[in-house]
Amino acid sequence: MRRCLISANWKMHGTIGSIGAYLETLVERVRPDGPEVVVCPPFTLLPTALLIASGSEVAVGAQNCHWEAKGAFTGEVAPTMLAELGVRWVIVGHSERRQYFGETDASAAARAKAAQQAGLSVILCLGETLEQRDAGETLAVLERQSAALAGLDPALLAVAYEPVWAIGTGRNATPAQAQEAHAALRRRAGELLGEAAARGLRILYGGSVKPDNAAALLAQADVDGALVGGASLDAEGFCAIIHAAPGNRRGA
Ligand code: PEP
Repeated sequence: MRRCLISANWKMHGTIGSIGAYLETLVERVRPDGPEVVVCPPFTLLPTALLIASGSEVAVGAQNCHWEAKGAFTGEVAPTMLAELGVRWVIVGHSERRQYFGETDASAAARAKAAQQAGLSVILCLGETLEQRDAGETLAVLERQSAALAGLDPALLAVAYEPVWAIGTGRNATPAQAQEAHAALRRRAGELLGEAAARGLRILYGGSVKPDNAAALLAQADVDGALVGGASLDAEGFCAIIHAAPGNRRGA
């Protein structure tokens, strides 16, 4: 069984003042029989988020981590530091990290491995640009990027298919486009992690998910959840997306 996973990516938004009311709403509304829910605020808000979400059904994640446990890496945060705080999830390889901060397939793989070694669950992001989609390269790009799955622990892993052209643009993939990419990723996961692990692997869709398109995307057979950016900043809107998601679904 794959339990649906809905994660908020706050990106560089939020304040200590705003996260309290937001999380209190979620803590009240998120139920154990619904989808698993994770909120990933900026690093500075993690202690406050962990305090408010403590003992609730809402897990807290970070948006990045380094691949080393310590060292001369000014401005970076080690996965062990996140684990020490009580963080359970970390997003790795987000397209904004790839676009603006030089993240590569290799560095994303290294971060993911280190995060798992620290006991963190990883949301590994991948997806094609508009240029690549228009050139018919989507599946080849996904095959290349998903090489990062090799050697990862499937028990501490979710993959997020995030077409770059859909992130923050208001233009989401159609449910059929998402399903095609997710099915390809699951086949690839079968080759890299084994068939049983691939059947249990949660593959999330990310890219302009909103309350009014979430249900159609999440109804697809291989769409096991969502990574939500902009629409996750509003507690009511994020709750509407959570409630559009099925709780449990069967492995294929
Ligand atoms: C994201 O940041 O991962 C994302 C999918 O953003 P948005 O929902 O705003 O497109």
